[in-house]
Amino acid sequence: MDFDWTNDQIEFRKMARDFAEREIRPVAAWIEGRDQPNGLGNFPRELLQKMGKAGFMSCLHDKEFGGNGKGLLYECIIAEEFGAVSPAAELARLVSCALFGMPLAMFGTKEQKAEFLPKILAGELIGAIGITEPNVGSDTAGMKTTAILDGDTWVINGEKRFITNGSQADVLSLFAITDPTVKAHKGMSTFLFETKTPGFSVVKNYEMHGMHGMRVSHLAFNNCRIPRHRLLGQLNQGFKQLMMELDKERIALAAESLGMGRACIEAALKFSQERVQFGKPIKDFEGISFKIAENATLLEASQLMVHRAACKADKNLPCTKEAAMAKLFACDEVIRICDDCIQILGGTGYTCDSFVEQFYRDARLMSIGGGTREIMKYLISREVYSQAGYSSKGA
Ligand SMILES: Cc1cc2nc3c(=O)[nH]c(=O)nc-3n(C[C@H](O)[C@H](O)[C@H](O)COP(=O)(O)OP(=O)(O)OC[C@H]3O[C@@H](n4cnc5c(N)ncnc54)[C@H](O)[C@@H]3O)c2cc1C
Repeated sequence: MDFDWTNDQIEFRKMARDFAEREIRPVAAWIEGRDQPNGLGNFPRELLQKMGKAGFMSCLHDKEFGGNGKGLLYECIIAEEFGAVSPAAELARLVSCALFGMPLAMFGTKEQKAEFLPKILAGELIGAIGITEPNVGSDTAGMKTTAILDGDTWVINGEKRFITNGSQADVLSLFAITDPTVKAHKGMSTFLFETKTPGFSVVKNYEMHGMHGMRVSHLAFNNCRIPRHRLLGQLNQGFKQLMMELDKERIALAAESLGMGRACIEAALKFSQERVQFGKPIKDFEGISFKIAENATLLEASQLMVHRAACKADKNLPCTKEAAMAKLFACDEVIRICDDCIQILGGTGYTCDSFVEQFYRDARLMSIGGGTREIMKYLISREVYSQAGYSSKGA
């Protein structure tokens, strides 16, 4: 085992951190939209282009299509560094280049990749991923949206909800049922869907507890006709493709949690050093310093789990259990970290004068999106029973 970062990884993290300070920090409050009354901040479209031009959309993609092929561990470094400054901007980036981009990278033809990837990776097009529906959340196999072949076009009907980047997206990785006569595991397929297609509409953007700079949308598809060649990968293999995509998605989401947790701990360290009560800095009280100790430990454990899972994914090793464990742990513990850091900051932590209040709200998403904590526990128990040689049925 080797726990040291390579020089290239250290240099890459420095570049990502410099970019975050130079380009994201100055617009972070604008993205959060503190002046907006309705819980909608500002979607950072221009910033996404800057991220793309600087190469921060490229890690999961081949050089041939504008990528750099560095892999998921590098993607995690970006998620940590950008997530530490603007969680909403980071999720918008991650969804476009990784969550939209991964099914295309893994299952797309050369022509499909050449058509969409260079523009996505440059931040010129925005991508999104469409899985969740009004009646389909954790149980993705219950999907209702259909894609039926009619001559040379697929006709798509249905609804998708909670789609990050939804109203801003130019193109979706869209999951739909192509054979309603069999179970979704054998009758789901993936499509590249352009939102300029007639019949597509944005029903609404959700007002949310946190992540105000994201656009999370309800989308409708009414007899949308797309060309036959927009099928991504093999017909009726969509469920398998989705499961492969989700392992990587979960690791990257957990990595963003690391950034949020780190930023809050750094703020708590600084505050507890400077804030004096009863004649001494509050860090000199065990009630404060032990909170720092506990949260630093949680963060480090989260880092180890996320980075290990990413390394396994980069080696193309099975990582469903590690991805689910990393997501469960990092995404749950970041909520506790943010909560404790608000406590350390006292009244200041509860006000909007401190970003910790915002990160506490933002962090709450992480144990819901990309699979809830309950579903992570289900997956982990299934894998653990199965690895121990027991039937995983019912686990
Ligand atoms: C801000 C935001 C952004 C999102 N972005 C996207 C996106 O870009 N694309 C996309 O497709 N989706 C997206 N989602 C959807 C997200 O993945 C789902 O919300 C999530 O998978 C849970 O589905 P659900 O909300 O329908 O909850 P449900 O599945 O209805 O679950 C409700 C509750 O029941 C629990 N539950 C369900 N089944 C079980 C079980 N078997 N055992 C124990 N407990 C269970 C859940 O854990 C949860 O606590 C987003 C969601 C949010 C909030």
